Amino acid sequence: MQDCIFCRIGRGEVPSLMLHRDERCFVIRDIHPLAPTHLLIIPHLHLTGLNGLGAHGEQLFGHLMAVAGEMAGRERVAATGYRLVVNQGPDSGQAVTHAHIHLMGGKRLPELG
Ligand code: AMP
Ligand code: ZN
Repeated sequence: MQDCIFCRIGRGEVPSLMLHRDERCFVIRDIHPLAPTHLLIIPHLHLTGLNGLGAHGEQLFGHLMAVAGEMAGRERVAATGYRLVVNQGPDSGQAVTHAHIHLMGGKRLPELG
């Protein structure tokens, strides 16, 4: 999409350090990190979120999860632990309506409930 920040980063229009890039996704550091390691795993495809993923989206998210696991190893948080988060819709506080997975680790993360 034209004005989507993640599409623009993916197209190289907004300079951003890519920690990983393949034909289906790329990985950048979150600009406002909530943990020592805070990465975003972002598909090139502009899906707005998890709603109505379809078969193709299911496969794509499988790949994103695999990349997240790989990145956790590279960031050295695989053994200490990490959290993957997908925000979906207004109640989650989703700010960028281009699907992505947050990977956070490198400290003891707050309890969820
Ligand atoms: P979400 O609430 O899941 O939509 O989160 C979007 C995330 O994208 C937030 O944590 C932002 O800090 C992050 N973000 C927004 N713009 C950029 C950018 N240009 N580079 C890196 N991270 C960004
Ligand atoms: Zn987009």
